[in-house]
Parts: sequence; C-alpha cells; structure tokens
Amino acid sequence: MTIVANQATIAVRNAQLFSRMLQQQRQLEAVLHAIPDLLMVLDESGSILLINEPAATLIDRPGDTLIGRSLAEFVTIDGVDGVLEQIQQIIQTPLQSGGNWTFEVRSERQKRDYLVSVSVWENPPAQTAGYVVVLRDVSTLRDLTRFKDEMLRIASHDLRSPLALIVGYCSLIELDIAPDSPINDYLQTIMRATERMKGLLDAMVRVEQIRKSPLEMHEHVIFAELVRQAAANMQMAIYNKQQQMDMQIHLEDAPGVTVNSVLLRECMENLISNASKYTPDGGRIIVRAYRHESRLIYEVEDNGIGIPKEHLPRLFQSFYRVKQPGTEGIEGRGQGLSLVKTVIERHAGDVWVESEPGVGSRFGFWIPI
Ligand code: ADP
Repeated sequence: MTIVANQATIAVRNAQLFSRMLQQQRQLEAVLHAIPDLLMVLDESGSILLINEPAATLIDRPGDTLIGRSLAEFVTIDGVDGVLEQIQQIIQTPLQSGGNWTFEVRSERQKRDYLVSVSVWENPPAQTAGYVVVLRDVSTLRDLTRFKDEMLRIASHDLRSPLALIVGYCSLIELDIAPDSPINDYLQTIMRATERMKGLLDAMVRVEQIRKSPLEMHEHVIFAELVRQAAANMQMAIYNKQQQMDMQIHLEDAPGVTVNSVLLRECMENLISNASKYTPDGGRIIVRAYRHESRLIYEVEDNGIGIPKEHLPRLFQSFYRVKQPGTEGIEGRGQGLSLVKTVIERHAGDVWVESEPGVGSRFGFWIPI
C-alpha cells in the first residue's frame, strides 16, 4: 500500500507539474502573439523554434508551418531587401556568448522600416543556445524624419530665396519714393519681419545641421578659460541692464578637455544671455563652474521672472517659448536652449533646469572630462 501510495503521489505531482508547464507555455504563446513586434526564436543552427504571426508575414507563410524549418530556406523570399539575409549572416557566424546586434533595414516589398535586434540566448544545463530576433516597425518614425528633412530642405532653400527677393524689392521701392512718404515706415516693417523670418529659418537649419553632422571636437581647452571668455562676451548685455554678474569658478584641479570650443562657448553665452533677458534691470546673475568627479559643470543662476513648473519639461525643445507676464517685449526665437541641448548631447553630456516663478532660475550642463 505504501509503495503504491508513493508512486501515486509521484504520478500526481508529475501530472500537476505537466499541467502547470502547459499553462505557462500557453501564457508565453499568448504574450508572443499579442506583441506587435516581429519575434523569432532560433536555435544555434538557425532553425525556427518559435515565431509570432507578425514575424511570419516576413516569410509570407502561416507561423505554425514554419516551426522546425531553417531560416536559411527563406532568405531569398524578400528579394533585394535582404532583411532575412542580414539576420542569416549574423546567425552564420560562430555563436558568441552574450552577443547582441542592432541595425535598421527597410523592406521595399512591405514598404516598412524595421529596427532589428538579434541577441544570443543560452541554456547551459541543457547545452542549448540560439538567437532571439526582434524586429520593431519604425516606419512612422522614419516617415516623420523624412518629412522633417524635406521641410528643412524647403526651409533652408525654397523659403529663403523668396525672402531675399522681398528684401531686394523693398530696397528698390525705397529708392523710388520720397523720403517723407509714410510708405517708408511700411517698408521698414516688411523688412524687419522678413529679417526675423530669415533669422528663424537660419537658426532652425543650424540646430539641425549640428544634430546631424559629426561635430569636430578637436580643440583641447581649459574649461575655466572658456567660461571666462563667455562671461566677458556677455558683459555688455549685463551692463546695459544694470545687472550684476558674479563668477564662481572652482576648476583648479580640472584637466583640459577636448571640445568644439566655438559651440561650447556659444552654449555658455546662451545661458547667460537668457538669464539677463529674463531678469529685470538691476538683477543678479551667478555664473558657476566646478568639477564633480569626472564631470565639468557649468551653471547660470538668476533672480529673474522664473518659469512655471509645467513648462520645464519642454523648454529645451525647438521653438518652445514660455508666454507669461513679463516676457511680452522680450525678443527671442525659442532656439537657444534647443541649440544648447543639441551641442551638449553631442559632447556626451546633459542639460538641466530648476526654476521657481518670481524667484529665479538655474540652468546648467555638464560634460565628461
Ligand atoms: P528664446 O530666449 O530665444 O525665446 P530659448 O530657447 O533660449 O529661446 O529659451 C526658451 C524659453 O525658455 C524662453 O522663451 C523663455 O520663456 C524661457 N527661459 C529661458 N531661460 C530663462 C531664464 N533664465 N529665466 C526665465 N525663463 C527662461
């Protein structure tokens, strides 16, 4: 009886384990089929162990008919696109423990762009290994980028040419009318508006160029020197508003850094310029620079109008300007902070802001040593 009871217990436990395993497998399958990403699990030789329906569309067959088949059989299916071929090339190389590859491809056949990630999976106890392939559809993102690039091309060329014509003809009309004619005022207004529009286009194109083109960061500079130059360049603006600028530079132990000095100084000047612009006459501005571990930190603090909290997350976006009492007459294009963020990120650093309305703001960035 005891022997029978023991064996029955084992049998019951095995049955319970089996049903739990089945349940987990069904849950896993449900998750795999629910995710919109294209997913394939392959073994070491490239045979398909698991594939969800979105991924099966790549091969043009129902998912359940593909289990156990080798990916190599289908590489020619997507013709010149080579989506599967690129994955197959990775799988053909000897399996590297912890390997991970990411690349982007476009499938002309499906008219989609994919961000592909291939990573190695391993199960040492069972001596099995293989690859998990995930393709994320990034077509909308790519379409938006293409649209943005096209808009920028239009902005940088097609819009600038008519603006130059407007300015040119305004100057011609000016020559033809009496000096005391009221038309002179109209012309000046047109020219000012056109100049402003040209300035906006130039600033936008410039930020985009910096974002895209490789930055030449080959100048070895003393960070403290750059800060002093930036502050000196802004001295006039501060003086004109009877503001006071205090410098707190503690960089005695900081080594030189390799940067793009023109752009970095421009970022420093931008933050001082903003502090001065958005602080009433007679205000106080503190420019701080110091080292914290392996970072060089630059900060500009003012006791100006401050910024309501809800605007802070969007301040560094292109063209974002805060409309609040006190800023009505202040000229700006909403491009300064966007440029700062772009340049600092290209230096592998980051930007930040803290602010309280009516008390003041503190803008800063760090770059790695
Ligand atoms: P711009 O100053 O040309 O409008 P920026 O990109 O430099 O553009 O700044 C974006 C917005 O952030 C500004 O319009 C302003 O509302 C806000 N801002 C920037 N610096 C400060 C500051 N020191 N104090 C208060 N508001 C600021």
